[in-house]
Amino acid sequence: MPDLIQRLLTVLLGTESKQRLRITRSLMAATVYVLCIGIMGFASRQGLMRANEAAVLSCLIILNVLVWYALLRSGLNKRFTEPSLTLPQILAALTWIVAAYTITGVFHGATMMLLTLVLVFGIFNLKARDAQIAGTYAVGLTGVAMVYKTVTDVVGYPVALESVHFAIVVASVPTISLLTAQLSNLRMRLRAKQEELTQALDRIQVLATRDELTGLYNRRHMMAVLDEHQRRLSRSSGHDFCLAILDIDFFKQINDTHGHNVGDEVLRNFANHAAGMTRETDVLARWGGEEFMLVLVGTTAQDAERSIQRLRDSLKNVTMAQDHLALHPSFSAGLSAYQPGENLSACIERADKALYSAKQTGRNRTVIWADVVPALSATMEG
Ligand code: GH3
Ligand code: MG
Ligand code: MG
Repeated sequence: MPDLIQRLLTVLLGTESKQRLRITRSLMAATVYVLCIGIMGFASRQGLMRANEAAVLSCLIILNVLVWYALLRSGLNKRFTEPSLTLPQILAALTWIVAAYTITGVFHGATMMLLTLVLVFGIFNLKARDAQIAGTYAVGLTGVAMVYKTVTDVVGYPVALESVHFAIVVASVPTISLLTAQLSNLRMRLRAKQEELTQALDRIQVLATRDELTGLYNRRHMMAVLDEHQRRLSRSSGHDFCLAILDIDFFKQINDTHGHNVGDEVLRNFANHAAGMTRETDVLARWGGEEFMLVLVGTTAQDAERSIQRLRDSLKNVTMAQDHLALHPSFSAGLSAYQPGENLSACIERADKALYSAKQTGRNRTVIWADVVPALSATMEG
């Protein structure tokens, strides 16, 4: 049963959530029309108004409901700047209700209540200016209808009664318009605040995860990336990864010879070029100072070494400092494959030791930890 209702609702309202809301609102507003038609039906059965007038206006109102429904359900409404078509729907409803007011004879006071009910439908999505337009239209149209009726139907619409009715309209309609305008301004302020908050959160996200100088991920974010890789690997095989620590050789000399600014420029250019060379699945971060960490996913240590060598070769053609075109610092790298189940710190430590070995054995090279275990252990112990 709920399934059937669901399917019926889908046929009636469609599947798009925004459109469903617009159609639902439009159909809810149609309850006002039902009331209006009810009043006319009752009045004509009592012989208090002409049945043919009631029938014509009822048909026009039903046609009006169908036209709005068709516009919304077909999606044609999306071509308008305000796709919910709230203002036009409200203006149309006001017109029909004022028309009913002019033909319902002694019952016409009842239809007046519906004017305010229609305006209430605009409270949650009319803009301040549109609320003013709707309010002015309601007061103006009612005023014209009342003057017309007091002239053409003195018995059914006596001046004294119409004056009281008009006073009620003048008192109630602008109040609703004012409330709608205030709510609209409140919504706009809230939206602006929300926008500001989203931007602030984005900025905080960048500050928390990026290195300011190079724009690469920072060490903290890299640790989060490694954690994630570790978790994935524990869930399923095939997510194995290697990590490499890259350290620019004799970087201190660059600072000492050319100044700190040139050092910074070299770091930025190195980071930029290396980031451009890494695969989409790999992650490069500034590990600290002139050290970078590269995580290579789904790669053996040997393949990772080849990738790093490609980066090393390509650096020869990259401008590292605009005013020092001959400056092409090399880098050393220590590489280690993550062993499932081990602590991340153990893997990082191995890469660090492999880097140490690369520095010890002449720099400008990559050392894979697995290849140097015996030799390095001996050096370190010695
Ligand atoms: P090695 O080949 O052994 O790695 O020698 P190195 O000179 O590269 O290493 P060392 O650790 O002696 O020096 C690293 C230098 O990097 C020292 C430090 O002042 C400099 N440095 C660290 N961070 C920055 C930075 O953000 N900008 C600049 N310009 N220099 C930095
Ligand atoms: Mg270093
Ligand atoms: Mg260095």
